[in-house]
Amino acid sequence: MIWNLGSINADNFYFVSHLPGAGETIAALEFRQGLGGKGANMSVAAARAGTRVMHIGALGADGGWALERLLEYGVETAHITLMEGVTGHANIAIDAEGENNIVLFPGTNHQITEEMIGAALSEASSGDWLLMQNETNGQVLAAQTAKTLGLRLAYAAAPFRADAVKAIISQIDLLVLNEVEAAQLRAATGRELRQLPVDDIVVTLGAGGCEWVSNKTHQIKTYSAYKVDPVDTTGAGDTFTGYLVAGLDRGMTMPQAIDLALRAGALMVTRHGTADVIPDLKEIRDHRF
Ligand code: ATP
Repeated sequence: MIWNLGSINADNFYFVSHLPGAGETIAALEFRQGLGGKGANMSVAAARAGTRVMHIGALGADGGWALERLLEYGVETAHITLMEGVTGHANIAIDAEGENNIVLFPGTNHQITEEMIGAALSEASSGDWLLMQNETNGQVLAAQTAKTLGLRLAYAAAPFRADAVKAIISQIDLLVLNEVEAAQLRAATGRELRQLPVDDIVVTLGAGGCEWVSNKTHQIKTYSAYKVDPVDTTGAGDTFTGYLVAGLDRGMTMPQAIDLALRAGALMVTRHGTADVIPDLKEIRDHRF
């Protein structure tokens, strides 16, 4: 089972002819709203991959719809607290090539209490996964608690903050980074990924696939992406990570879980949207790449 301490956001999508530069105002061609946040995306991806996932998070009183949406997608929500405050949200501009930029307001994602984390993880079992990203508070406590309880820790270092990764790095079993975050981590630590105290590091490379750095076997392997025509890359990394951890939770080997995650990520970039359009296992199996 996966316990995911993660953000839940309202995603506001603005489809634009080009991404606005500094000082520029442009009119969007189309607007859509959906469920997002790296945490929610990963929970939905893991649930779609067929594993049990309990989301640990917080919503404002305006966020009841998000709770219902997560339930509908198969995510367990007993440890999502409705509280005073504004639900996190992201304003996402997407250009004609599918490139994006994002402004994020964390809202209640930063109001998670020690009690909420403790209550959730007290129900976890040794061997479960704790999954985290960097869009909530509470990661240090959650990592410590997870390790005390014998959970495995997966961490997607996004959005990247050197101090956030450094604070928990010795507790991480699986670290997932994109290319930019990997470069930031190398710069922040002054070390190569193969020198870090993390057993498994997976670097996603967009259309280039991904790289697996195994610090147990001292091997680095690269995997090609599945070929697709991309329309929107938003949420590809989250879908990849949710599927990767779900695959491992279901007993797959790392290469098997990576292959599943590459398929899920490739299918995801052929769609507009985030959590609402993450493919399920059947869609991935039925798709001819
Ligand atoms: P985002 O923040 O936009 O969700 P990211 O930067 O975290 O993305 P990427 O490395 O861009 O993550 O993509 C994650 C995974 O999605 C890749 O490893 C790959 O498997 C898949 N993917 C992304 N873009 C493509 C593409 N153009 N074609 C095929 N697969 C892709």
